[in-house]
Amino acid sequence: MTTALTPGQHALLESELNLARTRVQAALQAQREGASRVAHAAALLADDPHDQREHEADRALDQARDSHLLAELQALDDALMRLKTPGYGRCVDCAAVIPFDRLQRQPQALRCVDCQTAAEATH
Ligand SMILES: [Zn+2]
Repeated sequence: MTTALTPGQHALLESELNLARTRVQAALQAQREGASRVAHAAALLADDPHDQREHEADRALDQARDSHLLAELQALDDALMRLKTPGYGRCVDCAAVIPFDRLQRQPQALRCVDCQTAAEATH
């Protein structure tokens, strides 16, 4: 079983993944710097209970964004690893070759469009 990707397409996807990874890492860092500024501002402010509640909500939101970015980073790392294996570019569910234009839009895609749609429908 070989992948349908040419070496040129392979190289293109690898650089796409590395670019996306850099973007997510930068976003994660910006997010964490912003979060620590919010925490610092909160510490400087008096103990107004109303303010405290708002800061709690801010922090929860920050954490949600943080874990979303971390999951994205993980998916990109996984894709970079899979790119080195012959299984890359094949659907994990039905083993169909994932079309290159789909991979180009979403190099971390694990499934063909049909299986992805089915997987999302069950969530
Ligand atoms: Zn499939």
